[in-house]
Amino acid sequence: MAKYIFITGGVVSSLGKGIAAASIGRLLESRGFKVSIQKLDPYINVDPGTMSPFQHGEVFVTDDGAETDLDLGHYERFTSQISGRGNNYTAGRIYLQVIEKERRGDYLGGTVQVIPHITNEIKDAVKAQGRGADVAIVEIGGTVGDIESLPFLEAARQLQLEVGRANAVFIHLTLIPFIRASHELKTKPTQHSVKELRSIGIQPDILLCRTEYPVPRDMKAKIGLFCNVSEEAVITAKDVEHIYEVPLYFAQEGLDYILLKYLGLPLHERRMEKWEEFLEKLKHPEDMVTIGIVGKYTQYEDSYKSLREALIHGGVANRLGVRIKWIEAEDIDREGPAGPLAGVHGILVPGGFGERGVEGKIKAAAFARQQKIPYFGICLGMQLASIEFARSVAKLETANSTEFDPQSPHPVFYKLRDLLGDDTYGGNMRLGRCACVLTEGSRAHAAYGDLQIGERHRHRYEFNKAYLEPLKAAGLEVTGISPDGKFVEIVELKDHPWFLGCQFHPEFKSRPLNPHPLFRDFVKASYANKAKGETVRA
Ligand code: GLN
Repeated sequence: MAKYIFITGGVVSSLGKGIAAASIGRLLESRGFKVSIQKLDPYINVDPGTMSPFQHGEVFVTDDGAETDLDLGHYERFTSQISGRGNNYTAGRIYLQVIEKERRGDYLGGTVQVIPHITNEIKDAVKAQGRGADVAIVEIGGTVGDIESLPFLEAARQLQLEVGRANAVFIHLTLIPFIRASHELKTKPTQHSVKELRSIGIQPDILLCRTEYPVPRDMKAKIGLFCNVSEEAVITAKDVEHIYEVPLYFAQEGLDYILLKYLGLPLHERRMEKWEEFLEKLKHPEDMVTIGIVGKYTQYEDSYKSLREALIHGGVANRLGVRIKWIEAEDIDREGPAGPLAGVHGILVPGGFGERGVEGKIKAAAFARQQKIPYFGICLGMQLASIEFARSVAKLETANSTEFDPQSPHPVFYKLRDLLGDDTYGGNMRLGRCACVLTEGSRAHAAYGDLQIGERHRHRYEFNKAYLEPLKAAGLEVTGISPDGKFVEIVELKDHPWFLGCQFHPEFKSRPLNPHPLFRDFVKASYANKAKGETVRA
């Protein structure tokens, strides 16, 4: 049976519970345990698939095609977990499952209630996910005191009672604010938050205290006393420069040691050399390179979380630091590309939905093609680069995606449903891992070092194969296709230092210790461009 670690949050949101859960996962893996990490989200949406990136940040896509919370991205980047649908449950999904059972008559006419029906459904989901792992880490979204998260907390409380305290511990992430006026750290919000937790029957075993300054010993003792937590289990979670430092910081504070002690697990040696090596390189790059990301959610960087991390990984793989310049696509549309793109060594157009900013992104792709600036187009960025090529080089001036012009005379991209001539996919998205076959000798092949790959998708529109021949004749290279030949997955341009668009989202699979080959090579090409002194001048 798996041992459980429940992580709750208090005082305020955004304290970094996801990174804390991921870091604990990393530490336990480093000590040889098999770990599973799951996120329970209190909102009523069945999944975050339809939520605005402005509100919810990035939607992280798993191999099995689940649209999940961005914390799952942290879990995958920090551990060896390959997440699936079971790693993320929302309150909406739990309720939906219960209501479906009720409609089927599974409850035999009984009154369906939060306790026990909803809480049982939650416990089943947690147990199912923990199966096969030594330690199941469960992050409970929201902040203690919210109405929404109550059923999740109650289910966790019951589960601890079922399996015993030696098999399930609670970690509470809280804030110790620093009051500038009096120059003091304050423990009261933590005391209140723990009181709240205890009032619903949960006694935290470990407190992770997020602070700007180290918490002194006597303050830890005081927090411990007031919160009924042993002093050694009051852990400082001080702000660090890079998220990848967090596991090492926790280790220094003795968190993994305490967890193993409380859970009665053997104290295997901790092996973190590779992680430390990565951090060393991250902190001491040999040089910098600037990548321009042309998007429309650039005000809210959480919308491009995995992308950002993948660029960092690709940078470290080249001993480089990556500076990201966020560029609003609409600025390019208004002012032209040269001004907004000034100073960038490589241009990346990421995924996106909807018409706003599309023409600006097309101009960015045209600029990269003409000025021979490395270009990496991801999903929408691949579609728009292909459309740009169709318009400018293949002289199909009205080329477009039916997403932006349903009546386009040259629909170079159109919906899967139209493509298959049936409604199998209901106009919905192609989601999750799909196999792809690469062309020998292509840039993609050089990057992957393999001809068979699998990458994650999240899009509705597809390359229209009626345009394959004319575009190829004009010089577009199709270097990745689905094994059945139905889908165009990668396009490249010859006579260009590095120009590649992929229909999938490679950023979801990049990890610090296993940087994604396309990001690695794109950063490398951008740096070569910098070395040539060919940055864009305004
Ligand atoms: N909007 C495009 C589509 O649905 C691209 C989606 C994306 O970039 N993820 O196909």
